[in-house]
Amino acid sequence: MPSFYAKQWRRLLSSFSPQIRCLVAEMAQAHSQALAEHFYSAMLEDEAAAGLLSHEQVHARLMGSMRQWIAQVLSAQPEDDLEPLVQHQVKIGEIHARVDVPVHLVLRGARRLKDGWHHLLAQHHPEQQTLASQMVAAVIDHAMEAMSQGYAVSRDSNSRTKEAYRLFSVTQNLTTVREQRRAELLAWENQCLYLHALGAESQPLSNLASSNFGLWFRHKGADMFQGAPAAQSILDAIERIDQELLPALMRAKGGEVAQPLLQLHEQVRHMAMNLEALFTQNSELDAGRDVLTQLLNRKFLPVVLSKEVSYARKSAAAFSVLTIDIDFFKQINDQHGHEGGDMVLQQMAALLSHNIRGGDYLFRLGGEEFLMVLVDTGSEGAQRVAEKLRKQVEQARFQLPRNQTQGVTISLGVATFDGHPDYQRILRQSDAALYRAKTAGRNRVQVAELEG
Ligand code: GH3
Ligand code: MG
Ligand code: MG
Repeated sequence: MPSFYAKQWRRLLSSFSPQIRCLVAEMAQAHSQALAEHFYSAMLEDEAAAGLLSHEQVHARLMGSMRQWIAQVLSAQPEDDLEPLVQHQVKIGEIHARVDVPVHLVLRGARRLKDGWHHLLAQHHPEQQTLASQMVAAVIDHAMEAMSQGYAVSRDSNSRTKEAYRLFSVTQNLTTVREQRRAELLAWENQCLYLHALGAESQPLSNLASSNFGLWFRHKGADMFQGAPAAQSILDAIERIDQELLPALMRAKGGEVAQPLLQLHEQVRHMAMNLEALFTQNSELDAGRDVLTQLLNRKFLPVVLSKEVSYARKSAAAFSVLTIDIDFFKQINDQHGHEGGDMVLQQMAALLSHNIRGGDYLFRLGGEEFLMVLVDTGSEGAQRVAEKLRKQVEQARFQLPRNQTQGVTISLGVATFDGHPDYQRILRQSDAALYRAKTAGRNRVQVAELEG
């Protein structure tokens, strides 16, 4: 069965007379080069686009495919099989998304192209200009629409993959990564010194950038610690070592060797320190864990919930959300100081995490509020878990400074996935339920009321 776009395309073409369609098709074949050039020169006016397009290969390939695109798209006839043409547009959209071509540039390109056509038609066929221009514009718009469908779908899955990757890196054992990378950096230095001792002239020293450590840091590490100054300084150090220190070391003779050797050693030591600092300061925070409780921090909430929503929609298994808030937490702070409050938060986090299964998620939303995502769990199951947690907290004694202990209670709101694609809804529902648990007296579980 032809897709929506193929059917629409056919209908659109049929609404123009065969003469107009023929004229447009002939012009498309004859002037595809001129039109592609018009398009290209217009795009170069934009700084961002120029950056993307100026590469010679891109230029050559883009011109070629642009010419082909013009000829193909504008010579299609209603009796042709339009499905492959539609699929081709979707694919172009996917490619745009993958290489990060901004949408506004694609739209601008289309506008310039229509402009170009308008002038060409005015010049060559003034008597048919209006109708032919109309047809060209309608066909280009239609192709753009099919394209943007591919763009949107692919864009979405791209960003999900990126986030999933980040999520994966959160759950990875960072201690192992940290030890391994550090060892690799030191191994590179050792090898470098060893080769140099054997005679640098005969064997060029291998770059740090292409060593295991260098590859990891340039492709993954720098991303992991996005924006941290120490990450930039490691990147700079890699470059300095490869561009200056190694060549200096290779040139040095006899007694001159000491200086570059010391500099190299110093630089590597500095990098190792920066790396340690990055792991210590940023990993938990930036990789998505809350520093105080080691729970996931709320910025991962959208990734996790949209993943669970789409999973639940596919598998017909529900998931549930518990929003959990400590009762009268302010009093704990007031009576035992902020430090006492922090101790309670850490013990609460530990208690809650002991009660989740491997597939579940536990977030600290902020302050003394937590959120639990129970996968594959319907409303009844979620209520059981909530009640169990409430009791366990009620029965536990929480350690405070100076060996004091105290009882603490929590209130919980429970909501279960109801098929709605927007995860904000389930959050809103469990939050409203929590609010009712508070106003009903605290230390209790309330289940979300069904929304219309
Ligand atoms: P309710 O039963 O209505 O939840 O009362 P509450 O006192 O728990 O709620 P409220 O939201 O009024 O107070 C929360 C307090 O938590 C206020 C804030 O100072 C404190 N707080 C927020 N974040 C932290 C933290 O990281 N550590 C500590 N110790 N206290 C925090
Ligand atoms: Mg509270
Ligand atoms: Mg609160």
